[in-house]
Amino acid sequence: MEQWSSTQELAGCLKDWQQRLSESLEFEQWSETIIPIAEKVALGERLSIEDGLILYQHPNLNEVGRLADFVRKSRFENFAFFNSNVHINQTNVCVLACRFCAFRRSKNSTDAYSLDIEAYVEDLSKYADYVDEVHSVGGLHPDWDVYYYRDLFKTVSEKFPHITIKSLTAVEIKHLSQLSSMSFREVLTILKDAGLGSLPGGGAEILDDGVRAIICNGKESSEEYLEIHRTAHEIGLPSNCTMLFGTVETLKHRLIHMDKLRRLADETGGFQCFVPYPFLPDSSRLPEAQCATGTEVLRTIAVSRLMLDSIPHIKAYRMNIGDGLAELALQFGADDIDGTVQKESIMHLAGSTAPLDHDLSKLSKLIENAGCIPVKRNTTYEKFEIFIAPTPKAIRGLKMAK
Ligand code: SF4
Repeated sequence: MEQWSSTQELAGCLKDWQQRLSESLEFEQWSETIIPIAEKVALGERLSIEDGLILYQHPNLNEVGRLADFVRKSRFENFAFFNSNVHINQTNVCVLACRFCAFRRSKNSTDAYSLDIEAYVEDLSKYADYVDEVHSVGGLHPDWDVYYYRDLFKTVSEKFPHITIKSLTAVEIKHLSQLSSMSFREVLTILKDAGLGSLPGGGAEILDDGVRAIICNGKESSEEYLEIHRTAHEIGLPSNCTMLFGTVETLKHRLIHMDKLRRLADETGGFQCFVPYPFLPDSSRLPEAQCATGTEVLRTIAVSRLMLDSIPHIKAYRMNIGDGLAELALQFGADDIDGTVQKESIMHLAGSTAPLDHDLSKLSKLIENAGCIPVKRNTTYEKFEIFIAPTPKAIRGLKMAK
């Protein structure tokens, strides 16, 4: 199987992707509305918030998707990425109560749980032979400070040196800094030294404090989210960033959110992947949410690809949007579908029905169905391997009809 390496800065992008993009867009036919935006994209000029609004409101969704697809292919040819990971949500006990959250429990709830280090390691050991990443996010536990997580990460990295720990959202880092009376930098440095490999992007929601006051009052502010990720990047921890859409925000809020993230990426180069996902509604949480349809999910992915010129990867997070839409999203600018996952509570308690039993062959098949070449990557997008799924025995033995 073909293998290759990249740098953290390029994260698998072709070095000459902008030139390839200019050449590939040159002879394309675009509608009058899209021509000025396509010209900017071809010249490598940053799209404005107004351009983003045009893309969001353009009646021809396929045209927006096609433009985003050109950018995706210029960066990565026809490769699409996935990894071999497991999600372990270490606790559902949380001192906050965000209005969109179906996962959190108070400490005394009958279904509250908190995995101690031994239980966590036991859980991880069931998957350790075939994953190279553990993704762990959870509630804000009132008793677990930075030293708890230091000991957890030390134990995990000693026992499973081949597994990268991607863990703790910005609000969890803020909680640890408050509980431990330390700065963000001190907390992140202790955790990095203990084995933390990267930060997931969760908790960005919409980076507008008015929207945050409605949907997640008490969480970190927009500026704190950015400050925590900035600090992580400064000490050498790469991270992802996210956007939860379809609650109470406007299109402009979404675009300003993207603008804040790309500006931080300009400054630090530390964001590797943007993960936009829609709010999954039920009758009890955030009844005023506008929600997002399938086409809006595809459009948001395409707009993200076009707006976020300084963030290399756009993920179609199948745990949230499901396999069918994730497959389609690979034609609308996304280049990554996350990983095997195996266990997941946060999205599934909110209503996701995405399958959790996918092995690497099933994931690669999903990518092939979208017309792309499946590539297995590591957590930080530095090591790649084209994945060829083994042919099932039953098919291998089939005789061709004469
Ligand atoms: S989203 Fe996170 S911080 Fe908010 S209630 Fe749920 S677990 Fe707690």
